[in-house]
Amino acid sequence: MSVSELRNSIQENTPDAISLYANPSANYADKVAETLALLKQAVAEFSPVTQASSLGAEDVVITHLINHNALNIPVFVLETGALHRETQALLERTQAQSLVPIKVYRPSNEKVINFVKTHGQDAMYESIELRKACCQVRKLEPLAEALQGQRAWVTGLRREQSSNRSDVPLIDRSEESTKGQIKLNPLANWTWGDVWHFISLNQVDYNPLHDQFFPSIGCAPCTRAISLGEDFRSGRWWWEDEAAKECGLHAKK
Ligand code: SF4
Repeated sequence: MSVSELRNSIQENTPDAISLYANPSANYADKVAETLALLKQAVAEFSPVTQASSLGAEDVVITHLINHNALNIPVFVLETGALHRETQALLERTQAQSLVPIKVYRPSNEKVINFVKTHGQDAMYESIELRKACCQVRKLEPLAEALQGQRAWVTGLRREQSSNRSDVPLIDRSEESTKGQIKLNPLANWTWGDVWHFISLNQVDYNPLHDQFFPSIGCAPCTRAISLGEDFRSGRWWWEDEAAKECGLHAKK
């Protein structure tokens, strides 16, 4: 058997993310209704509102609901210049299929080149400060641009994702006075099983990296597959302490 035949055979015999994870809660239908109600409330009360999408499983669920219900919530993606090719391909497919606009924000070329020249390609592994500095250039500055003029933004945060997120509210006004936006977390109450049940039921296109044990997908240098029993967020910045594991998009002081 050739190497490519062996690889194909392994892939064919490995269960995909849907068969691994899809497992709805008893109150799954209530959760979907709650999410849809919040998205409709977002349009009615908090416009202009936008969805931040990393193209991860939670975010494709939200984008599907926005499109399916013709909600006026444009989507944006931060293309950090370090995404996996699978994520880039999903971005292209999403842009081609979505009814609402999918806007892409990129970091300043000059700043990325300067950062890499000064600190090296692998600076993020050297210290938390350098990792955060990389996130600042590649994510936070484009995020600030994406949120300019928005009253609210929709995220895919769920309470179950990590201890840092265990008290995520559906409507988060804690940064409204400092940063200017309300954060809406319509999947706050969903389980991982709910997310995959929705993807399965609605045949939502998703990142194939989820089939390879990547529950949380970010930039390629900072994301790895996890093993059975490992914490959900342990595939992100795995060389750092749990408490430091936010890129600043959702960090709380
Ligand atoms: S996740 Fe990693 S590669 Fe991406 S911006 Fe942050 S440090 Fe840089």
